[in-house]
Amino acid sequence: MSCEEFDLIIVGAGPAGLTAAIYAGRSRLNTLILEKMVVGGRILMSETIENYPGFASITTQELIRRMEEQVRALQIKIEVGQVTDIDMNNKIVIAEGNKYKAQALIIATGAKPRILDVPGEVRLTGKGVSYCAICDAPFFKEKHVVVVGGGNTVAEEAIYLARFAKKVTIVHRRNDLRATAILQEKLKSNPKIDFALNCVVTEISGVNKVESLRLKEVTTGEEKILACDGAFIYIGYDPDTEFLKNKLDLDEFRYIISPADMTTSAEGIFACGDCRKKSLYQVVTACSDGAVAADSAYKYIASKGK
Ligand code: NAP
Repeated sequence: MSCEEFDLIIVGAGPAGLTAAIYAGRSRLNTLILEKMVVGGRILMSETIENYPGFASITTQELIRRMEEQVRALQIKIEVGQVTDIDMNNKIVIAEGNKYKAQALIIATGAKPRILDVPGEVRLTGKGVSYCAICDAPFFKEKHVVVVGGGNTVAEEAIYLARFAKKVTIVHRRNDLRATAILQEKLKSNPKIDFALNCVVTEISGVNKVESLRLKEVTTGEEKILACDGAFIYIGYDPDTEFLKNKLDLDEFRYIISPADMTTSAEGIFACGDCRKKSLYQVVTACSDGAVAADSAYKYIASKGK
């Protein structure tokens, strides 16, 4: 197997990886980005972003298009390929049967949607169960959909879905949402959105497509059936770090442990964005991580005599 060599390999082309690439390119590091699916990653599952400074509102597609353009202008190579193994000592990366080597690596693999893990969920995924409103909302015109969770994602996606559906019910396991105040205000003022609070989903039912959810009231234990046409699940994300198990120090939820300089437990390997343990998961903090990771990687490579 041939082995292409770079100064730096970045794994993941979301906002963190793209920002790392911009900083690496400007430091004239010969850089490769490996992305398993599509440039932009999970952010593209949302339609717009309203808290990225400088843009009161911008579509995620446009924001990513601009970031990618900036990266490509620096002659950085972006290849599609899922990384399945990394030799941490020699900094050799295996992706889709290809082998790449670098002096330093940046892990920017982000996170993927968590599943509810209830009966019916897997069987009905793609048949009314979805994790992506922007992909599937048009299928639910004038229908009743449920969104599950209580964070910022639920709030944003419920508002988006209400543009298509006739009714959107937010099912959340507590009485209070954790979404930011401004989003909660928008939810409460939207006449199409209602709430089933203190409820958990225990089953998703339907013959060929979603027809109802079984809900359990957590305080009374009472069960009820909620008829609906779709269920969008937004109960958080798990870091995309399976391939790093036993290779880097991860926390109990598999987030990469890395301090403010984005170093990790392996020399010359850096982490940035939603795959690392931190206090605030936002596009702006992902970009900030990416800049720091590239700077740390540059200093590491320079210390080795490049
Ligand atoms: P999140 O903030 O982790 O919220 C997940 C929600 O799902 C919580 O309300 C949680 O309930 C609930 N939940 C978790 N496991 C559950 C289960 N098994 N059954 C039922 N409910 C469950 O996730 P997120 O909303 O996807 O956001 C992820 C990160 O991205 C956050 O840091 C968020 O701030 C950020 N984000 C920011 C924006 C923005 O600023 N515009 C937009 C989207 C996301 P509890 O509340 O009871 O724990």
